[in-house]
Amino acid sequence: MKHKAPIKKLAILGSTGSIGTQALEVVRANPESFTVEVLTAGNNAELLILQSLEFLPNSVVIEDETKLKLVKEALFDKGIKVFAGKKALEQIVQMDEIELVLTAIVGYAGLASTMNAIRAGKQIALANKETLVVAGDLVTGLAAKMGVQIYPVDSEHSAIFQCLAGEFQNPIEKIYLTASGGPFRDKSQDYLASATKAEALQHPNWNMGAKITIDSATLMNKGLEVIEAKWLFHLSPEQIQVIVHPQSILHSIVQFKDGSMKAQMGLPDMKVPIQYALSYPHRLHSAYKRFNFADYPTLTFEQPDKNKFPCLDLAFEAMKRGGNMPCILNAANEIAVSAFLKDRIGFLQIAEVIEKTMAKGNHMEKPGYEDYVNTDKETRKFAEEIILKTK
Ligand code: NAD
Ligand code: MG
Repeated sequence: MKHKAPIKKLAILGSTGSIGTQALEVVRANPESFTVEVLTAGNNAELLILQSLEFLPNSVVIEDETKLKLVKEALFDKGIKVFAGKKALEQIVQMDEIELVLTAIVGYAGLASTMNAIRAGKQIALANKETLVVAGDLVTGLAAKMGVQIYPVDSEHSAIFQCLAGEFQNPIEKIYLTASGGPFRDKSQDYLASATKAEALQHPNWNMGAKITIDSATLMNKGLEVIEAKWLFHLSPEQIQVIVHPQSILHSIVQFKDGSMKAQMGLPDMKVPIQYALSYPHRLHSAYKRFNFADYPTLTFEQPDKNKFPCLDLAFEAMKRGGNMPCILNAANEIAVSAFLKDRIGFLQIAEVIEKTMAKGNHMEKPGYEDYVNTDKETRKFAEEIILKTK
């Protein structure tokens, strides 16, 4: 007999992005498991309209207020409520009808809506790793207080989460987060000095949004994931190790105190972890391509090159210093990546800008929410000043 999971009512924040569109593919393939109550987008009104006409959500939000009229007119006769702006995005997650919020906005911009969703007791499928990097103590503390589960969407954290099924009484000895190594794994330092954004945007295994693709090329993505793992699985820095695995088949590994290791594996396809986060604790049937051992006679592992990719150590340092230092790291990285994408700085300068910004930032050991907001604002300014002085 086919086992049926109860229908889940979803809000998808950032529905027009890489994760958002793949989440809607999951919903499209499983109409008996999900309904879409809310969709939100930054400024891609055209795609938001198409998605809304297909999935008929209760409400949509477009962050860019200049697009409000366009979206309203397109959805008027469908009875879909349309809102615009930051405040609307922050508030819509509290709507009664929503059960689970998929946070697929990129960067710090997703923090306020994630916190509000938790405050309203909504379950969270978390793709927006930057929210845990910036304010992991507040986000996980609030979730614990509200009895809210945070289901990881990031493939590495989904792997750890899947390996922990049935192990609740067994503490983790350590975890290995796997990294593809990105497009520059084999390249020389000289090559990196003149690497272009077109080259950095070519990820070997995953097709993702621009910001995370650059983060993957600098290995900052793995650094952010180390901090994400610390908060999701209550780990100390010494318990987290990064291992480069260029084929991206083992998505991460947990080691227990008897020395036994569990890994979760499969072809690199974000729809698998997205679907698991949306359907947990159930697994739904999927038609996604299956792994074939004959295609992968060799799986390889190597240490990350920390000299070539200093962002990884910067993230470890920020995590060890704690307080608002990961927030400083994140804001500096967002500004540096955006400057690189506008050809204002070179590839190697991304790490330099972050390092200098971290040195300049005002470290606080026990920040509250407003402190994080101010840290983010101040750090962006510092990082911009450093970029202006960078040749
Ligand atoms: P993306 O750039 O493709 O999409 C981002 C989405 O957020 C879009 O819908 C965009 O309109 C919206 N958005 C952007 N800025 C916004 C703002 N200021 N206010 C409101 N909405 C805004 O990004 P993505 O690759 O889908 O990544 C989303 C998040 O998921 C990131 O935090 C990323 O680190 C994480 N993640 C992505 C992948 C992946 O495969 N793409 C894998 C793991 C984790
Ligand atoms: Mg990942």
